[in-house]
Amino acid sequence: MLRLPKADYYAPLSLSEACSILAEHGKEVKVLGGGTDLLVACKLRNVTPTFLLSLSSISELKGIHFHEGEYLKIGAMTSLHDLIVDSSISDHYPALSQAAALVGTTQLQYMGTVGGNLCLNTRCIYYNQSETWRKSRDVCFKMGGNVCHVVPKGKKCYAVFSGDTVPALIALDAKVKLVNNTEERLVSVSRLYTGDGKEPLALKSGDLISEIRLPPPTKSQSSTYLKYREREAIDFPMVGVAVRMDTSDDGICTGCKVVLNAVDCGPTEVPQARELLEGKAPTSDLIQEVAVEAEKRAHPVANTPGSTPAYRRKLSGILTHRALHQVANGLGML
Ligand SMILES: Cc1cc2nc3c(=O)[nH]c(=O)nc-3n(C[C@H](O)[C@H](O)[C@H](O)COP(=O)(O)OP(=O)(O)OC[C@H]3O[C@@H](n4cnc5c(N)ncnc54)[C@H](O)[C@@H]3O)c2cc1C
Ligand code: SF4
Repeated sequence: MLRLPKADYYAPLSLSEACSILAEHGKEVKVLGGGTDLLVACKLRNVTPTFLLSLSSISELKGIHFHEGEYLKIGAMTSLHDLIVDSSISDHYPALSQAAALVGTTQLQYMGTVGGNLCLNTRCIYYNQSETWRKSRDVCFKMGGNVCHVVPKGKKCYAVFSGDTVPALIALDAKVKLVNNTEERLVSVSRLYTGDGKEPLALKSGDLISEIRLPPPTKSQSSTYLKYREREAIDFPMVGVAVRMDTSDDGICTGCKVVLNAVDCGPTEVPQARELLEGKAPTSDLIQEVAVEAEKRAHPVANTPGSTPAYRRKLSGILTHRALHQVANGLGML
């Protein structure tokens, strides 16, 4: 049985107290959301924090509500389950509730939070293993060594990002509020990721995500998230894709975002979707062209169970094709 390493535990009641603790202990402290990923990583000794800072007692970090009609505010400690059942999300931002419903299992959706999903560490079959297993090989870049077992001549870590709600949030133009002991700032979700498998998050020391903001809903918008995984009951994505489309009254596409999941070290936008579709009525041929571009944008490597890079590239195009058809049909454009 794998046991948790010893760590001191903080459970502050306010955000300002949490920020002070983070500022005091720096890299020795890890923020604990629902713990569904972090505690596994602690057991595997991927991380060994001296302090755990639980956000679970901070009520201001929970809940979903419209803020003065300007944006939908989701507290970072809101559970994935709440994203699934809250009608303001399922009615207006379907890609987000669909993505939350595809994370792991029901138990994980009750415990896991949207803040934790945004800050999910990257994954690799050579990293998400016990310490004993890892000791049979040279230490790789992700653990501070100098080799990569997936790309032997590579000069960096290629671990894959696979947080399911993230492509949906990017497609929906969401922002996050980052807070630390001295400042708070709003950042687009797309700017949270470095694209580096070793250090995937562009957070400053002491930063916390306190909330997520979604632009006000419009009737002329539709979105979806599709995911393919080895076992429907539990697994991380082999590939995911989020699509958002806006339409005018006469069936012209006025906005489109396609974002792939689990095919690189960070979420991957397909900018050609905008270039090919905006200002036009979507046709099956145009959608097929975007799907081809999505396949080209995907750069998976051989570090995800149950699939090959070629298979995941092909899937990127297939899922993009399906998702675009689905939203365009939903808006009555096809
Ligand atoms: C068997 C299994 C299957 C899974 N399948 C999936 C899947 O299919 N898709 C998927 O996306 N995930 C999956 N997960 C991972 C996990 O359950 C989810 O990603 C979940 O949303 C993580 O949220 P959490 O609150 O539990 O995060 P935690 O484990 O508490 O934290 C995760 C990371 O985020 C940081 N963090 C948490 N909250 C904040 C915050 N507010 N500000 C700054 N940093 C923060 C933590 O320090 C940590 O580094 C799976 C996990 C398991 C064990
Ligand atoms: S991609 Fe390479 S460096 Fe990164 S975790 Fe896997 S083996 Fe290690």
